Amino acid sequence: MDFSLTYEQKMVQQTVRDFVKKELMPLESDVLRNEREGRPGIKAGKIREIQARAKELGFWGINTPEEYGGANLGPLMTAVISMELARTFVPFAFGGTADNILYYCNEEQKQRYLLPTINGERRSCFALTEPGAGSDAANIQMRAIKDGDHWILNGEKVFITNGNEADFAMVFAVTDVEKGARGGVTCFLVDRDMGWHSDYIHTMGEWGPASLYFENVRVPEKNILGQLHGGFDLGMQWIGAGRWAIACRAVGVAERALQMAIEYSQTRVTFGKPISERQAIQWMIADSHVEIEATRWLALHAAWLAEQKQDNRHASSIAKLHGSNMVNHVVDRVLQIHGGMGYTKELPVERWYREVRLWRIFEGTDEIQRFIISRNLLRGHVKLGESL
Ligand SMILES: Cc1cc2nc3c(=O)[nH]c(=O)nc-3n(C[C@H](O)[C@H](O)[C@H](O)COP(=O)(O)OP(=O)(O)OC[C@H]3O[C@@H](n4cnc5c(N)ncnc54)[C@H](O)[C@@H]3O)c2cc1C
Repeated sequence: MDFSLTYEQKMVQQTVRDFVKKELMPLESDVLRNEREGRPGIKAGKIREIQARAKELGFWGINTPEEYGGANLGPLMTAVISMELARTFVPFAFGGTADNILYYCNEEQKQRYLLPTINGERRSCFALTEPGAGSDAANIQMRAIKDGDHWILNGEKVFITNGNEADFAMVFAVTDVEKGARGGVTCFLVDRDMGWHSDYIHTMGEWGPASLYFENVRVPEKNILGQLHGGFDLGMQWIGAGRWAIACRAVGVAERALQMAIEYSQTRVTFGKPISERQAIQWMIADSHVEIEATRWLALHAAWLAEQKQDNRHASSIAKLHGSNMVNHVVDRVLQIHGGMGYTKELPVERWYREVRLWRIFEGTDEIQRFIISRNLLRGHVKLGESL
């Protein structure tokens, strides 16, 4: 068993770390100020500019197959890169990517949806959740009824990330009521100009998802993504890919925040001594590090299984559950170590505190991860001590 990164992985890690330090961290105080004053932290044009510089270093399409011009670095390298990128709160991602399920596009759809998304000319959103169906995604009610060579969509989606910015949505609707959700749901590619509209939802985070409204929206049959009635599996594939990625981001945020707490504790003096000399503070630092390391290995294990083309669903649920809770604990301790300063908008700590709270909710809540993990054990799909 070899826990070390390969030479190539170390090089990539160092390059991304340097890139984050040089290109993104200098923008942090502007991001905080802009957000405090109600503006987007960073303008879209600036993001594109930085993405272009990243592309020169080879960071473009890190998960995108070579046939589409991507670097296709694989799950393990992606995990390492995500941990590094999450060390800054500047909202940035490398360009050249598309949702994993868009690769199910047929040749004609590829030209209209997949390629323009990879090239940054179009923007997608993933629309599964409804007001009456979140965790219980199999209970979605949005109907699609066939009308000649079109389908008519009626219903509402809620909490859709990028729902205000996207110009097309991957929409999940019931196409066969008899078969129930699992065999009777279809995914449609629906352009905004086919007639859906969106409303911003204000959240405790710095960005808001959207409600999407569909009233007799006519979608051509040729816009079905994948198979008719094959939508539920596509939806689960999309969600599954995000779970271990959240654990990776949790490691990046928690490490950066903990480093800030370590440095602050060494300079903040109370009762004649730096607070770092108090056991109460030392234990918060130690517990945080232990939890970060545990998440790192859980996330890398889930990524490694994906790299080996093995089923990583159980490992992903474990990593997501542990990672999203870990980062909430760590950021809370970091805020506590900073005292009143931690509560101000001068520092990013309160921003992380609000942002990472979401991670225990989306892409499967804590309770749903526990449900999956225990069900796999109780039904014998996974046996204790046989996780490798
Ligand atoms: C900011 C944000 C962005 C999002 N982005 C997207 C997106 O892009 N696309 C999309 O489709 N969705 C998106 N979502 C939706 C998200 O996936 C759901 O909010 C999430 O799955 C939980 O569903 P819910 O909010 O309906 O809560 P519910 O399912 O109503 O759950 C409420 C509470 O009950 C618990 N619970 C539910 N069932 C059980 C059970 N069987 N046993 C024990 N406890 C249970 C839950 O864990 C939770 O604590 C987003 C949500 C947010 C907040």
